[in-house]
Amino acid sequence: MTARVLVVDDVLHNVKLLEAKLRSQYFDVLTAMDGVEALEIIENEQPDIVLLDVMMPGMDGFEVCRRVKGNPKVAHIPIIMVTALDQPKDRVTGLEAGADDFLTKPIQDLPLFARVKSLVRLKVLMDELRIRNSTGQAFSGDTLSELSSAIDMNNVKALLIEDYERVAKRIVGYLDETVDQVDLDNVADGKISTEKLEQYDLFIISLSLRDVDGLRLCSQIRSSENTRHSPILVLIDDGDNDTLIQAMEIGVTDYATRPIDGNELVARVKSQVRHKRFADYLRGKMKKNMEMAVTDAVTNLYNRHFLDTHLDNIFKKGPDSRPKTSLLMLDIDHFKKVNDTYGHASGDEVLEEFSKRISDNMRSIDLVARYGGEEFVVVMPETDADFAMFIAERVRKKISEEPFKISGSEEPINVTVSIGVSIVSDDCNTKEELLKQADEGLYKAKENGRNMVCGSTCLIDQ
Ligand code: GH3
Ligand code: MG
Ligand code: MG
Repeated sequence: MTARVLVVDDVLHNVKLLEAKLRSQYFDVLTAMDGVEALEIIENEQPDIVLLDVMMPGMDGFEVCRRVKGNPKVAHIPIIMVTALDQPKDRVTGLEAGADDFLTKPIQDLPLFARVKSLVRLKVLMDELRIRNSTGQAFSGDTLSELSSAIDMNNVKALLIEDYERVAKRIVGYLDETVDQVDLDNVADGKISTEKLEQYDLFIISLSLRDVDGLRLCSQIRSSENTRHSPILVLIDDGDNDTLIQAMEIGVTDYATRPIDGNELVARVKSQVRHKRFADYLRGKMKKNMEMAVTDAVTNLYNRHFLDTHLDNIFKKGPDSRPKTSLLMLDIDHFKKVNDTYGHASGDEVLEEFSKRISDNMRSIDLVARYGGEEFVVVMPETDADFAMFIAERVRKKISEEPFKISGSEEPINVTVSIGVSIVSDDCNTKEELLKQADEGLYKAKENGRNMVCGSTCLIDQ
């Protein structure tokens, strides 16, 4: 994992030292010696992460941080504040200014690398989500920083695993104002026994448990589907570097060293929860965008674009992998009349009910798509010609035999459908040909009086 790190400090010696340390880990390093220069580099160079000294003459680190987080173009870049050890208050001020993490001077290698790597990992994820979301129409005018600061910090739930009762009590006390519910688990049987782990915004896990290996619990949380993205903050003895390295490798997101400093713990918890909720929000948006991109808004069926891709995939795989794929093309009869008689809104309702009836009559492996206005396509794998005709006939009856009840009309509306059927064969082995043959069947059905199913021959209703 490599990344570009901007180091900001007014003391040349500090800059050089940090630069050397980071370069030894193959990070790309940029440097700045005051706030103004830092802002310029951040805007022009867009580094992946900023290590920012708090105490600088002129514009101090807090102000730089505030400006970065207030600028939508760069607000997503993580900032690690570098504070003096004797100023615990600075950590809270830093986080309030929007900093993502902090380190205390003198900076030691391991905490430095651990924090930088953890934030770079987070940024890679966030960048990916941001890019995907901005290609969708997710952020209608909202900037990311506005969204990030609007993240709801209420109802925070944490799971604490700490078997020293006194320490556990003290931690619960520290978190009193920030976290609404702290559950304790004593991991008696060596595993986390609490159910529904995904309900937690954060896991706080001691790595000095008496009977259980805390790292094992961390990896349990990391590897489970529901909690793969949940933040884990471990409590670790100061100087226990081996354990810290292992924890970071497992993917623990943050740590606090004993003796636990209450202010620091609260600041770290807040920052972890904020990151998690923001990432969840982006992920949710992305899922919705993906659904929107492939479905039709009126009927909730797949749209034509998705159908095209699906058919392309079927034909891409080669002849053996698409045995007996059949296709139905459906077109509602005289639909224009429905619109003309009952209005467009009622027409939409008919389309919805129509879609539901087709979907309900298909298997889950069949793909139902809206092909155009009142035209639909169903792709059915593992379906020979006779069976495809049988299914089409069943659908035709489902539509015609029960008039549609809709809110815009007292009397139910009679609806019928014409269906063309085609099947993949030696003469029909492209997407275009499959659609064309179904369309020809559909044309025949319309010609022969509608409310009919036609493949190579037409079924006559008995
Ligand atoms: P045919 O039996 O030959 O298919 O006749 P038809 O009236 O169904 O066919 P035509 O292609 O002449 O008209 C289709 C109508 O479908 C016209 C159009 O306004 C209507 N339509 C297309 N999309 C929608 C939609 O999303 N909502 C509504 N309400 N109507 C739609
Ligand atoms: Mg039509
Ligand atoms: Mg029609």
